[in-house]
Amino acid sequence: MKKLLTNNLVQLILRVLSSLVGLILLLMGLGFLILPEVFAINLFIEPTRAVGINSLRGDLGALFLGMSFFCLLAILSSYRRLLLIPIVFLALVVTGRLVSYVIDDNPIVLVSSLISELVFLSILTLSLVSFSFNSDSKNNLPTLKTLFNKKFIISTIVIILLVIVALTGQRQLGTFLWNRLAGKQMQQNRISNLPDGLHVGLAGTGSPMPDAKRKGVCTFVLAGKKLFIVDSGPGSTLNLELMQVPLSKIEAVLITHLHSDHIGGLGELMLKAWATGARTKPLKIFGPKGVDIMVKGFNQAYSVDAEFRFAHHGDAVTPMEGHGGLPQTIEGFDENRAAVVYQSDDVKVIAFLVDHQPVKPALGFRFDYKGRSVVISGDTLPNESLRYHSKNVDLLFHEALQPKMLRILNRAAINNGRKVIAHVTSDILTYHTFPEEAARIARDADVHHLVFHHLIPPIPVAILNSAFIGDSKKYYDGPITVGVEGMLFSLLPNTKKILKEWFL
Ligand SMILES: [Zn+2]
Ligand SMILES: [Zn+2]
Repeated sequence: MKKLLTNNLVQLILRVLSSLVGLILLLMGLGFLILPEVFAINLFIEPTRAVGINSLRGDLGALFLGMSFFCLLAILSSYRRLLLIPIVFLALVVTGRLVSYVIDDNPIVLVSSLISELVFLSILTLSLVSFSFNSDSKNNLPTLKTLFNKKFIISTIVIILLVIVALTGQRQLGTFLWNRLAGKQMQQNRISNLPDGLHVGLAGTGSPMPDAKRKGVCTFVLAGKKLFIVDSGPGSTLNLELMQVPLSKIEAVLITHLHSDHIGGLGELMLKAWATGARTKPLKIFGPKGVDIMVKGFNQAYSVDAEFRFAHHGDAVTPMEGHGGLPQTIEGFDENRAAVVYQSDDVKVIAFLVDHQPVKPALGFRFDYKGRSVVISGDTLPNESLRYHSKNVDLLFHEALQPKMLRILNRAAINNGRKVIAHVTSDILTYHTFPEEAARIARDADVHHLVFHHLIPPIPVAILNSAFIGDSKKYYDGPITVGVEGMLFSLLPNTKKILKEWFL
């Protein structure tokens, strides 16, 4: 090894590779400094507006620029020991990423970043080791004068000037990016390109309580070519669009019950389904008794808007015969408290009664497609009908209310004199399922994977996932996922696998 690393050619290659690492780190640093949000998207970092952008430019810019500074300084001078600084930082970055893979329930989407960092780390470490064998290496610490030689100072001044030009040309940069982004968005059609199978995506996982990241509850199911939307909570239609769900191709919307957190987005959903695809038939809205009153109300509320849009766009975009929704009340439940809602080719959808008193009836849905199956619980107390219809399903999407967290909220409301909120946070304890109860149902029904998809309270950060799940893992030893907007689960026929992807 020592012989290899002291070979002149190997040393030259390591020097070139280390320079490349330094330049890539420099580009990353400049990227975070000049276009913080663009570089953040690639690393799945979501800045919180101005404050977040400040940290991206500052903290992440500094991390990459600092590593690049010492990396290039080490290569350009003869003091290769300075490579130890970027090596320590890269080792810490890799450690943090590995810790995250172990404790966070994340899809491994950043493997390519981890691999790049490991490659960088190896190159710099080998370069450092190789140089330490070299008799020409300088062991004493360099003086400032030898480090900041002419070459280095000129390079630094050029980079600073480039940054100033880039920061003053925000308008041109923005226009350039917008051109690229618009083209990219129009090309993409991720949902339509999915392979044949049963796919379930989360477009909303929140509850009536506000949360900056979570929208009202909404789940889409793509069974083969048939697209269904289950519930349409406030704001969720925007997420469906961001996930590139082709709204104009919706086969039917299925409503579990008529609480506002499950229907507040329906007006927008019906409008977008109509106006983004020039639908010529109204959207079918299946739901429990009362669905006709609700849909009629939405149709009426959006009727004036529909006329404006028709006057503006005409038949090419908004043919009037396709406007609004067509309600279909789900009735005729059999002895198993179930009714078939849809059956065609390989797709079967049933509705079953659940227990959400005083909301009556309240429904859950089961989807079957080519041997794969999914249940969506709706809002419910633990009940036998749900357990019965979830038997052996691949995925159970269950609502969950975490009582300990809710009691803390309740106490906070009482302490702050918020009487109505205190009342509500106490009342709702009696008509939802606790995570542990959902886990028992998943166990008893031999469900393969349990997903909490309607969270009460809507937890804002992943560090709370474990507290939300509580003791669920004591009762159910299958995988448990705390749902987040953008998650997509895929069940392909003839396999037992449950694939998880990230669409936001
Ligand atoms: Zn609800
Ligand atoms: Zn409800």
